[in-house]
Amino acid sequence: MKYFVHEYNHIEKWKHLRQDLFRNEEPNLRLVGLTVPTKDLVDQGVTTETLPAYTARQSHESEGTHEDDLRLNRKLVSWGHHTCLEAVQFVYLVTGVSKSLAGQWTRHRIGIGWTFRSTRYVKANKNTFVYPALEYLDSEDQVMGIYRAYEREHRRAIEVYEEIRAMGVRNQELRRLMPVGWATAAYVYVNARALRHFFELRLDTSAEWEIRRLAYLMFNDAMTHAPSLFEDMLERAGASPGGHAS
Ligand SMILES: Cc1cc2nc3c(=O)[nH]c(=O)nc-3n(C[C@H](O)[C@H](O)[C@H](O)COP(=O)(O)OP(=O)(O)OC[C@H]3O[C@@H](n4cnc5c(N)ncnc54)[C@H](O)[C@@H]3O)c2cc1C
Repeated sequence: MKYFVHEYNHIEKWKHLRQDLFRNEEPNLRLVGLTVPTKDLVDQGVTTETLPAYTARQSHESEGTHEDDLRLNRKLVSWGHHTCLEAVQFVYLVTGVSKSLAGQWTRHRIGIGWTFRSTRYVKANKNTFVYPALEYLDSEDQVMGIYRAYEREHRRAIEVYEEIRAMGVRNQELRRLMPVGWATAAYVYVNARALRHFFELRLDTSAEWEIRRLAYLMFNDAMTHAPSLFEDMLERAGASPGGHAS
Protein backbone atom coordinates (compact mmCIF):
# COMPACT_ATOMS: atom_id res chain seq x y z
CA MET A 1 0.00 0.00 0.00
CA LYS A 2 1.80 3.09 -1.27
CA TYR A 3 -0.90 5.53 -2.31
CA PHE A 4 -3.75 7.01 -0.27
CA VAL A 5 -2.05 5.49 2.77
CA HIS A 6 -3.53 7.95 5.22
CA GLU A 7 -7.11 7.33 4.08
CA TYR A 8 -6.63 3.57 3.95
CA ASN A 9 -5.13 3.47 7.44
CA HIS A 10 -7.94 5.65 8.72
CA ILE A 11 -10.56 3.18 7.41
CA GLU A 12 -8.55 0.29 8.89
CA LYS A 13 -8.00 1.85 12.31
CA TRP A 14 -10.05 -0.85 14.10
CA LYS A 15 -8.77 -3.78 12.03
CA HIS A 16 -6.85 -5.19 15.02
CA LEU A 17 -10.13 -5.49 16.96
CA ARG A 18 -11.68 -7.61 14.21
CA GLN A 19 -9.01 -10.30 14.09
CA ASP A 20 -10.72 -12.78 16.42
CA LEU A 21 -14.34 -11.95 15.66
CA PHE A 22 -16.66 -14.78 14.64
CA ARG A 23 -15.79 -15.74 11.03
CA ASN A 24 -14.25 -12.40 10.23
CA GLU A 25 -12.80 -12.00 6.72
CA GLU A 26 -10.77 -9.03 5.55
CA PRO A 27 -10.63 -7.93 1.89
CA ASN A 28 -7.96 -9.28 -0.41
CA LEU A 29 -7.10 -8.51 -4.01
CA ARG A 30 -5.05 -10.69 -6.36
CA LEU A 31 -4.26 -9.86 -9.95
CA VAL A 32 -4.73 -13.02 -12.02
CA GLY A 33 -4.61 -11.62 -15.56
CA LEU A 34 -3.40 -8.57 -17.44
CA THR A 35 -3.25 -7.81 -21.17
CA VAL A 36 0.11 -8.55 -22.75
CA PRO A 37 0.94 -7.31 -26.29
CA THR A 38 1.67 -9.98 -28.91
CA LYS A 39 5.28 -11.03 -29.49
CA ASP A 40 5.83 -8.84 -32.57
CA LEU A 41 4.79 -5.77 -30.56
CA VAL A 42 6.86 -6.81 -27.54
CA ASP A 43 9.83 -7.13 -29.92
CA GLN A 44 9.22 -3.48 -30.88
CA GLY A 45 9.33 -2.44 -27.22
CA VAL A 46 5.58 -2.17 -26.64
CA THR A 47 4.47 -3.09 -23.11
CA THR A 48 1.15 -3.60 -21.38
CA GLU A 49 1.31 0.01 -20.24
CA THR A 50 2.16 1.52 -23.63
CA LEU A 51 -0.39 -0.45 -25.64
CA PRO A 52 -2.95 2.41 -25.43
CA ALA A 53 -0.48 4.96 -26.85
CA TYR A 54 0.86 2.53 -29.45
CA THR A 55 -2.63 1.84 -30.79
CA ALA A 56 -3.57 5.55 -30.60
CA ARG A 57 -0.70 6.31 -33.01
CA GLN A 58 -2.92 4.80 -35.69
CA SER A 59 -4.74 8.11 -35.98
CA HIS A 60 -1.64 10.01 -37.18
CA GLU A 61 0.42 7.04 -38.39
CA SER A 62 3.14 8.31 -36.05
CA GLU A 63 5.93 6.40 -34.33
CA GLY A 64 7.67 6.87 -31.00
CA THR A 65 9.93 5.36 -28.38
CA HIS A 66 8.76 3.73 -25.17
CA GLU A 67 9.25 7.06 -23.37
CA ASP A 68 7.28 8.87 -26.09
CA ASP A 69 4.47 6.37 -25.62
CA LEU A 70 4.38 6.93 -21.86
CA ARG A 71 4.14 10.68 -22.55
CA LEU A 72 1.42 10.06 -25.12
CA ASN A 73 -0.50 7.95 -22.59
CA ARG A 74 -0.57 10.93 -20.24
CA LYS A 75 -1.76 13.19 -23.05
CA LEU A 76 -4.52 10.76 -24.02
CA VAL A 77 -5.70 10.81 -20.43
CA SER A 78 -5.67 14.61 -20.25
CA TRP A 79 -7.38 15.01 -23.65
CA GLY A 80 -10.16 12.62 -22.66
CA HIS A 81 -9.16 10.38 -25.59
CA HIS A 82 -9.95 7.36 -23.44
CA THR A 83 -11.12 4.70 -25.88
CA CYS A 84 -7.51 3.54 -26.34
CA LEU A 85 -7.35 2.72 -22.62
CA GLU A 86 -9.72 -0.14 -23.33
CA ALA A 87 -6.65 -1.93 -24.78
CA VAL A 88 -5.60 -2.91 -21.26
CA GLN A 89 -7.72 -5.43 -19.38
CA PHE A 90 -7.20 -6.38 -15.73
CA VAL A 91 -8.57 -9.56 -14.13
CA TYR A 92 -8.63 -9.68 -10.32
CA LEU A 93 -9.72 -12.20 -7.75
CA VAL A 94 -11.38 -10.25 -4.96
CA THR A 95 -12.24 -11.96 -1.67
CA GLY A 96 -13.52 -10.76 1.69
CA VAL A 97 -15.99 -8.25 0.33
CA SER A 98 -19.63 -8.16 1.38
CA LYS A 99 -22.84 -8.70 -0.52
CA SER A 100 -23.53 -5.09 0.40
CA LEU A 101 -20.45 -4.05 -1.55
CA ALA A 102 -21.45 -6.31 -4.46
CA GLY A 103 -24.74 -4.43 -4.72
CA GLN A 104 -22.90 -1.13 -5.19
CA TRP A 105 -20.12 -2.49 -7.36
CA THR A 106 -22.39 -4.12 -9.92
CA ARG A 107 -24.08 -0.77 -10.57
CA HIS A 108 -21.03 -0.06 -12.75
CA ARG A 109 -22.19 -1.31 -16.13
CA ILE A 110 -19.60 -0.32 -18.72
CA GLY A 111 -16.27 -2.11 -19.35
CA ILE A 112 -16.55 -4.22 -16.23
CA GLY A 113 -17.97 -7.66 -15.41
CA TRP A 114 -17.86 -10.31 -12.67
CA THR A 115 -18.12 -13.94 -11.84
CA PHE A 116 -19.37 -14.13 -8.26
CA ARG A 117 -19.48 -17.19 -6.06
CA SER A 118 -22.94 -18.61 -6.52
CA THR A 119 -25.21 -18.64 -3.52
CA ARG A 120 -27.43 -21.23 -5.19
CA TYR A 121 -24.72 -23.81 -5.78
CA VAL A 122 -22.46 -23.11 -2.81
CA LYS A 123 -23.76 -23.56 0.73
CA ALA A 124 -23.51 -20.47 2.91
CA ASN A 125 -23.09 -22.23 6.25
CA LYS A 126 -19.29 -22.07 5.94
CA ASN A 127 -19.48 -18.44 5.02
CA THR A 128 -17.50 -15.63 6.59
CA PHE A 129 -18.57 -12.06 7.34
CA VAL A 130 -17.24 -8.57 6.62
CA TYR A 131 -17.47 -6.44 9.75
CA PRO A 132 -17.89 -2.68 9.33
CA ALA A 133 -14.90 -0.37 9.71
CA LEU A 134 -16.57 2.08 12.14
CA GLU A 135 -13.65 4.41 11.46
CA TYR A 136 -15.71 7.44 12.51
CA LEU A 137 -15.89 6.21 16.12
CA ASP A 138 -13.13 7.02 18.62
CA SER A 139 -13.74 4.74 21.58
CA GLU A 140 -12.23 1.25 21.40
CA ASP A 141 -14.70 -0.03 24.02
CA GLN A 142 -17.62 1.31 22.07
CA VAL A 143 -16.37 -0.24 18.81
CA MET A 144 -15.74 -3.60 20.49
CA GLY A 145 -19.26 -3.52 21.93
CA ILE A 146 -20.67 -2.92 18.45
CA TYR A 147 -18.54 -5.73 16.96
CA ARG A 148 -19.91 -8.08 19.64
CA ALA A 149 -23.46 -7.15 18.60
CA TYR A 150 -22.60 -7.93 14.95
CA GLU A 151 -21.05 -11.21 16.09
CA ARG A 152 -24.29 -12.20 17.83
CA GLU A 153 -26.30 -11.55 14.69
CA HIS A 154 -23.85 -13.47 12.51
CA ARG A 155 -23.87 -16.47 14.84
CA ARG A 156 -27.64 -16.39 14.95
CA ALA A 157 -27.90 -16.27 11.14
CA ILE A 158 -25.75 -19.40 10.90
CA GLU A 159 -27.75 -21.16 13.64
CA VAL A 160 -31.10 -20.51 11.97
CA TYR A 161 -29.55 -21.46 8.63
CA GLU A 162 -28.58 -24.85 10.03
CA GLU A 163 -31.93 -25.24 11.75
CA ILE A 164 -34.01 -24.89 8.61
CA ARG A 165 -31.46 -26.60 6.38
CA ALA A 166 -32.11 -29.69 8.53
CA MET A 167 -35.80 -29.24 7.62
CA GLY A 168 -34.97 -29.60 3.92
CA VAL A 169 -34.76 -25.97 2.74
CA ARG A 170 -32.47 -25.47 -0.29
CA ASN A 171 -29.50 -23.10 -0.69
CA GLN A 172 -31.41 -20.61 -2.81
CA GLU A 173 -33.89 -19.96 0.00
CA LEU A 174 -31.40 -20.40 2.83
CA ARG A 175 -29.30 -17.51 1.52
CA ARG A 176 -32.13 -15.12 2.35
CA LEU A 177 -31.26 -15.51 6.01
CA MET A 178 -27.82 -14.03 5.57
CA PRO A 179 -27.23 -10.38 6.48
CA VAL A 180 -25.82 -8.23 3.67
CA GLY A 181 -22.50 -8.21 5.51
CA TRP A 182 -21.72 -11.81 4.61
CA ALA A 183 -18.61 -12.25 2.54
CA THR A 184 -18.47 -13.15 -1.10
CA ALA A 185 -15.72 -13.63 -3.69
CA ALA A 186 -15.54 -12.70 -7.35
CA TYR A 187 -13.34 -12.53 -10.38
CA VAL A 188 -13.67 -9.08 -11.88
CA TYR A 189 -12.79 -8.26 -15.48
CA VAL A 190 -12.22 -4.56 -16.04
CA ASN A 191 -10.44 -2.44 -18.63
CA ALA A 192 -8.27 0.55 -17.74
CA ARG A 193 -10.86 3.05 -18.93
CA ALA A 194 -13.61 1.56 -16.75
CA LEU A 195 -11.16 1.26 -13.89
CA ARG A 196 -10.50 4.99 -14.10
CA HIS A 197 -14.22 5.67 -13.97
CA PHE A 198 -14.54 3.40 -10.94
CA PHE A 199 -11.67 5.28 -9.24
CA GLU A 200 -13.23 8.67 -10.09
CA LEU A 201 -16.37 7.72 -8.20
CA ARG A 202 -15.13 5.38 -5.51
CA LEU A 203 -11.80 6.86 -4.37
CA ASP A 204 -13.70 9.97 -3.49
CA THR A 205 -14.29 10.47 0.21
CA SER A 206 -18.03 10.72 -0.48
CA ALA A 207 -18.02 7.02 -1.42
CA GLU A 208 -19.04 4.42 1.14
CA TRP A 209 -16.11 3.06 3.21
CA GLU A 210 -16.08 -0.54 1.97
CA ILE A 211 -16.10 0.20 -1.75
CA ARG A 212 -13.58 3.03 -1.12
CA ARG A 213 -11.33 0.56 0.70
CA LEU A 214 -11.53 -1.75 -2.31
CA ALA A 215 -10.83 1.18 -4.65
CA TYR A 216 -7.66 1.98 -2.67
CA LEU A 217 -6.47 -1.62 -3.03
CA MET A 218 -7.22 -1.67 -6.77
CA PHE A 219 -5.66 1.74 -7.37
CA ASN A 220 -2.45 0.69 -5.64
CA ASP A 221 -2.26 -2.42 -7.76
CA ALA A 222 -3.11 -0.66 -11.04
CA MET A 223 -0.41 1.94 -10.33
CA THR A 224 2.24 -0.77 -10.16
CA HIS A 225 1.38 -1.96 -13.68
CA ALA A 226 0.46 1.16 -15.65
CA PRO A 227 1.12 4.35 -13.65
CA SER A 228 0.87 6.67 -16.66
CA LEU A 229 -2.79 5.67 -17.07
CA PHE A 230 -3.80 6.49 -13.49
CA GLU A 231 -1.31 8.85 -11.82
CA ASP A 232 -3.19 12.03 -12.73
CA MET A 233 -5.91 10.91 -10.29
CA LEU A 234 -3.35 10.98 -7.53
CA GLU A 235 -2.27 14.49 -8.43
CA ARG A 236 -5.85 15.72 -8.63
CA ALA A 237 -6.54 14.27 -5.18
CA GLY A 238 -3.53 16.19 -3.87
CA ALA A 239 -1.94 12.90 -2.82
CA SER A 240 1.59 11.66 -3.30
CA PRO A 241 3.34 8.33 -2.77
CA GLY A 242 3.10 7.66 0.93
CA GLY A 243 0.99 10.77 1.32
CA HIS A 244 -2.69 11.47 1.48
CA ALA A 245 -5.45 13.30 -0.31
CA SER A 246 -6.50 16.71 0.89
C1 LIG B 1 -21.10 8.46 -3.70
C2 LIG B 1 -22.12 7.65 -4.44
C3 LIG B 1 -23.40 7.57 -3.96
C4 LIG B 1 -24.36 6.81 -4.65
N1 LIG B 1 -25.62 6.74 -4.12
C5 LIG B 1 -26.56 6.03 -4.78
C6 LIG B 1 -27.89 5.93 -4.25
O1 LIG B 1 -28.21 6.49 -3.23
N2 LIG B 1 -28.80 5.19 -4.92
C7 LIG B 1 -28.47 4.55 -6.09
O2 LIG B 1 -29.35 3.90 -6.67
N3 LIG B 1 -27.24 4.62 -6.61
C8 LIG B 1 -26.27 5.34 -5.99
N4 LIG B 1 -25.00 5.41 -6.51
C9 LIG B 1 -24.70 4.66 -7.74
C10 LIG B 1 -24.59 5.59 -8.98
O3 LIG B 1 -25.84 6.20 -9.27
C11 LIG B 1 -24.14 4.78 -10.23
O4 LIG B 1 -25.13 3.82 -10.54
C12 LIG B 1 -22.82 4.06 -10.03
O5 LIG B 1 -21.88 4.89 -9.42
C13 LIG B 1 -22.28 3.61 -11.39
O6 LIG B 1 -21.85 4.76 -12.09
P1 LIG B 1 -22.01 4.90 -13.65
O7 LIG B 1 -23.43 4.74 -14.09
O8 LIG B 1 -21.33 6.20 -14.02
O9 LIG B 1 -21.09 3.68 -14.18
P2 LIG B 1 -21.25 2.80 -15.48
O10 LIG B 1 -22.53 2.08 -15.49
O11 LIG B 1 -20.02 1.96 -15.56
O12 LIG B 1 -21.29 3.84 -16.65
C14 LIG B 1 -20.11 4.51 -17.06
C15 LIG B 1 -20.50 5.76 -17.84
O13 LIG B 1 -21.09 5.33 -19.07
C16 LIG B 1 -22.16 6.22 -19.39
N5 LIG B 1 -23.42 5.47 -19.40
C17 LIG B 1 -23.64 4.24 -18.87
N6 LIG B 1 -24.88 3.83 -19.10
C18 LIG B 1 -25.48 4.83 -19.75
C19 LIG B 1 -26.80 5.02 -20.24
N7 LIG B 1 -27.73 4.11 -20.09
N8 LIG B 1 -27.09 6.17 -20.87
C20 LIG B 1 -26.15 7.14 -21.04
N9 LIG B 1 -24.88 7.02 -20.59
C21 LIG B 1 -24.56 5.88 -19.97
C22 LIG B 1 -22.17 7.32 -18.33
O14 LIG B 1 -21.34 8.39 -18.77
C23 LIG B 1 -21.54 6.64 -17.16
O15 LIG B 1 -20.95 7.54 -16.24
C24 LIG B 1 -24.03 6.16 -5.85
C25 LIG B 1 -22.72 6.25 -6.34
C26 LIG B 1 -21.78 6.99 -5.65
C27 LIG B 1 -20.37 7.06 -6.21
